[in-house]
Amino acid sequence: MEAILIDGKKVSKEIKAELREKVIALKEKGIIPGLAAVLIGDDPASATYVRSKARACEKTGIYSDITKRPGDISQEEVEQIVRDLNVRDDIDGILVQSPLPKHMDEPAVTCIIDPQKDVDGFHPFNVGMMLIGQPTFLSCTPYGIVELMRRNKIDPSGKEVVIMGRSNIVGKPMAAILMQKRQGANATVTVCHSRTSNLNEVCRRADILIAAMGQPEFVKAEMIKEGAVVIDVGINRVEDSSTEKGYRLVGDVDFEGCRQKASFITPVPGGVGPMTIAMLLTNTVKSAELRAQRS
Ligand code: NDP
Repeated sequence: MEAILIDGKKVSKEIKAELREKVIALKEKGIIPGLAAVLIGDDPASATYVRSKARACEKTGIYSDITKRPGDISQEEVEQIVRDLNVRDDIDGILVQSPLPKHMDEPAVTCIIDPQKDVDGFHPFNVGMMLIGQPTFLSCTPYGIVELMRRNKIDPSGKEVVIMGRSNIVGKPMAAILMQKRQGANATVTVCHSRTSNLNEVCRRADILIAAMGQPEFVKAEMIKEGAVVIDVGINRVEDSSTEKGYRLVGDVDFEGCRQKASFITPVPGGVGPMTIAMLLTNTVKSAELRAQRS
C-alpha cells in the first residue's frame, strides 16, 4: 500500500490563514507583530531564506525588518544590532540568520537575544524551558513537525520514535519535545548520529522515523518498518542536468522506495520545509500577543 502524503504546504497555508485572523485581532488592539531578521555576509542561501521569511511576514500582516551587514563586521557590532532590536517596541521576534561568518561566535550572539523575542527558540533559557516542559518558544523545525503530526492525527504517544541527527536546531530539540509528559508527545525516543553502530537495526524499530542528517536519500526502504511514519527534514541539492537550474532538491529519504512501505510520508520539497516558516510566524504572533497582555 502506498503511504499517505503529509502535505506541509497545505498545513502551513492553514496555519498562516489562522495567523492572519490573530494579526487582525492584535491590530484592533493597536499592536502590529514585528519580526526582525539580521543577515550578515553574502551567503546566497541565507539571503534566500531571509527573503522568503520577509515575504511570508508581509502575507500574514506581520511587519518585517531586515538588517543587512557585510561579512567583515565585528562581533561587537552584531551584538549591538541585537541589543538595539531587543529594546525596540515594534519588534516581537528577532532572528539572526545562521550561519554567521566563521570569525564570529554564534552562540554568544544567540545569548544576547532577549529570550522574550527569541522566536527561533535557540536561546539557552528557552531551550531549558523546553527541556523542563514549560511554555516557551519551541524551535521552529521540530515545532513544525509536531504540528504536522497533530494535524494529520498522528499521535506519538507510546510510539518508538527514532530521530536521525543530533543537531541543536533539529535532532536535540525534537527529542526533548517528543519525550515530554504531555499530549502530542509521550514518545519513547532514540537519537542516532554518525557514531551509531547499528543504525539500520535501530531505524527498523521506529514507528515514527525522523530523518535530519543532510544526507541525500540515505534512508532506504529496507531501513524502515512496514507502516512506519516517515518524516523527512533533509533539504539537499543534487545535480540534475535535466532541470533548468542544473540541480534538484531531495530529502534524506529515498522517497519513491519508502513510500511503498510507510503509512505516512513527507515529501521534499513541500513537507517539513514550509512548516518551519509557518512556526516562525506562529512564535512571532505569540510574542506579540504576550506584548498585548503586558501593555
Ligand atoms: P547538521 O549537519 O547540523 O547535523 C546532522 C546530524 O546528522 C548530525 O548529528 C550527524 O551526526 C548526523 N549524521 C550525518 N550523517 C549521518 C549518518 N551517515 N548516519 C547517522 N547520522 C548522521 O544538520 P541539521 O540538523 O542542521 O540539518 C539536517 C538536514 O535538515 C539538512 O539537510 C538541512 O538542510 C535540513 N534542514 C531542514 C530544515 C527545514 O526547514 N526543513 C531546517 C533545518 C535543517 P554527528 O553529530 O555525529 O556529526
